[in-house]
Amino acid sequence: MIKLRDLTLEELKQYMIELGQPPFRAKQIYDWLYKGVTEFSAMGNIPIDLREKLAETCQIDPLQVLREQKSNVDGTRKFLFGLPDGNAVESVYMEYKYGASVCVSSQAGCRMGCAFCASGIDGLVRNLTAGEMLSQVLDIQRETGKPISHVVVMGTGEPFDNYEQLVKFIRLLHAPEGYGMSMRNITVSTCGLVPCIRRFGKDLPQVNLAISLHAPTNALRSELMPINRKYGLSMLLPAVRDYAQETGRRVTFEYALIHGVNDTVEVIGQLIQLIRGMLCHVNLIPLNEVNETGFGTVGRAKAREIATRLEDAGIPCTVRRQLGADIDGACGQLRLAARKSL
Ligand code: SF4
Repeated sequence: MIKLRDLTLEELKQYMIELGQPPFRAKQIYDWLYKGVTEFSAMGNIPIDLREKLAETCQIDPLQVLREQKSNVDGTRKFLFGLPDGNAVESVYMEYKYGASVCVSSQAGCRMGCAFCASGIDGLVRNLTAGEMLSQVLDIQRETGKPISHVVVMGTGEPFDNYEQLVKFIRLLHAPEGYGMSMRNITVSTCGLVPCIRRFGKDLPQVNLAISLHAPTNALRSELMPINRKYGLSMLLPAVRDYAQETGRRVTFEYALIHGVNDTVEVIGQLIQLIRGMLCHVNLIPLNEVNETGFGTVGRAKAREIATRLEDAGIPCTVRRQLGADIDGACGQLRLAARKSL
């Protein structure tokens, strides 16, 4: 079966030609797909015999909502979506002043093993296809009834560990004949796969890049993030500098504050030494507590104090709004909770 949400318009045109159909049918079908239509019978301007042929040979595969949590505080909605093969992924809908954003998962599970993260606890199950990433956006738009203006690829999985499908997803999302989202409204977050950072800067230089840094020394970072043993700070930082220079784009360093681990005066001093002078921005994240990992959170007052110190050192910094703090907010928590209760 052909999975239609995985196809570019060009690929769908090729299929129409194979079926002996005029290529313009591809654009008509594409329009229905991106309007969120999930039944061939609803594609009003497609001849009935072609609709029947599509139903025999193609799938649209909308995601199934297995579970949903809705914040009573800020409108954040967290979805646990079922995939056709029985796996499940999480996606989060968030409202900001500038529009609605979806946090997309790129893999079912993750093999990066970061110590503070619930998503990696069971390891990698499989990569998602470009269409499955796109479905998270289209199906959240369907569920919420709100147009999605921004996407962050920061959910479960390491996006650069699924590089080809990630790039295809971003191209599908951006294509003017498809969703038409501006590249500048898309952000990809990596734990630091250095060769892919270099490649990404060339392939998609207008997309925003965020680096999960979380520690300023190799000793501490390797403890928290095993990827650092392969791509240490002496490889990561030059790649980020080159990326910023080549693309002219400011990189965001994500820094999840973990009580007593990476929030001390000494460690923050090391962070300042490491990144001062770079074209960057630091996003401090008061960690949502994940019981399975045993790490403690840092209050907002402490986070603000650290932000002031960074700003005084000339490093632009924000403290991330704790969206959905009244629901299972950290990545992987809903999936873990669902697995336990199944
Ligand atoms: S933080 Fe990201 S890269 Fe690390 S284990 Fe979790 S999902 Fe994977």
